[in-house]
Amino acid sequence: MIDLRSDTVTGPTPAMRAAMAAAEVGDDVYGEDPTIRALEERTARLLGHEAGLFCATGSQCNLLAVALLVQPGTELLCDAQAHVARAEMGAHAALHGVSVRTWDGRAGVATTAHVARLLQPDAGPFLVSTAAVALENTHNFGGGTIQPLEHLREVSALCRDAGVGLHLDGARLWNAHVATGTPMATFGQLFDTVTVCFSKGLGAPVGSVLVASAEHIARARVLRKPLGGGWRQAGILAAGALYALDHHVDRLADDHAAARAFAAAVAEQAPHAVANVPTNIVVLDTATRPARDVAAAAAARGVAVSALGVHVLRAVTHLDVTREQCVEAGAVVGEILGAPE
Ligand SMILES: *Cc1c(COP(=O)(O)O)cnc(C)c1O
Repeated sequence: MIDLRSDTVTGPTPAMRAAMAAAEVGDDVYGEDPTIRALEERTARLLGHEAGLFCATGSQCNLLAVALLVQPGTELLCDAQAHVARAEMGAHAALHGVSVRTWDGRAGVATTAHVARLLQPDAGPFLVSTAAVALENTHNFGGGTIQPLEHLREVSALCRDAGVGLHLDGARLWNAHVATGTPMATFGQLFDTVTVCFSKGLGAPVGSVLVASAEHIARARVLRKPLGGGWRQAGILAAGALYALDHHVDRLADDHAAARAFAAAVAEQAPHAVANVPTNIVVLDTATRPARDVAAAAAARGVAVSALGVHVLRAVTHLDVTREQCVEAGAVVGEILGAPE
């Protein structure tokens, strides 16, 4: 099976496993795991922030970040296709009393106009006031889209002027960094809180880091406890993430090239299904065909892709597939999508 469902499916490489096995560890609830501390400090520095918190998942980081910025009964604004709105199971509302209101961005790209139209920091006693805005870079369901730096700067200024918080769901910020050459800190400094994942394109088995001010991170560490998120000798996991920082960032360019090759192979037989491919995610429009049927037909021929909407398929390239496999998979999916119905 050529598995393009997600870049989360990667397994740790033998060298990463060796680094994990050799990790120095301690009890992190006591703050005594040196490998976790090293990862938190390094990630914070990389993103231009004071402190970091290593968490089990990106969803947990997002949940904590939003809880830091949004008090119960106030709202978070985000794109309608944002992971926080579509893939975190309503946790922000259920656990922290957060209202979410969304704008409809094109392929997930946010402009100041989208935000300004909804932003209402002081909505009065009968309406929900805006406490924070969340952006996603790259944008997952938008098709791995990169938020233009100018947009990010404008939204950041807008939020600061309005006195509302700004969170970056940067699960795949690494991909935006590699595709554009923009330093991670240039992105990071525009936001109050940033989530990055090591379990996606970077190929670590588990883990994400939330970065913010030292004060915010101290609070997030306490808020993580009621989520069952305090952990012990998890330096074993942090070592995989540190290994990924050293060895798996620059190679994301290979995933981007493989994604373009996949899309070109699909387009040979089904040109209308494909949009442009900025990073490692290819979103395909199945037109009138149910995406689930196309995914099932592809799976029967050894290619796994995700059905993410009624007529939306997603393929994601990663460390565990070669460019040749991606071309082969693209030909299979293109043949299915290009065949007469
Ligand atoms: C994967 C992902 C996350 C976090 O996912 P977890 O499975 O909880 O680690 C958050 N945001 C985006 C955009 C993602 O793609």
